[in-house]
Amino acid sequence: MTQSIDRRGFGRICAGLAAVAAVGTGRIAHAADLPHVDEAGPQAQALGYVHDATKADKVKFPAYVAGSQCSGCQLYQGGAAEWGACALFAGSAVSGKGWCSAFAKKA
Ligand code: SF4
Repeated sequence: MTQSIDRRGFGRICAGLAAVAAVGTGRIAHAADLPHVDEAGPQAQALGYVHDATKADKVKFPAYVAGSQCSGCQLYQGGAAEWGACALFAGSAVSGKGWCSAFAKKA
């Protein structure tokens, strides 16, 4: 007997296997495991990302508001942690004290 799976089914299987592999190795990715964003990298440069918000380029990014920083941004996923994930920098961690021009104040 031959069975086939559709693309959606294949995706579910792959996602399940990835989850099992992550749990099996005890290596679910946490922000603490992620490398820090490279401030000199092209995306960081384009967005004006800096690890220290007070060092934001206020001339190039006049929208910067003193006191704003990643930990107060809707896209920051680090909670109260010093470093956290950000949807704009997949695979890297941003500093809770950092800032970029995509800053969106938490509601
Ligand atoms: S989008 Fe928000 S959390 Fe991400 S780097 Fe910019 S200011 Fe920080």
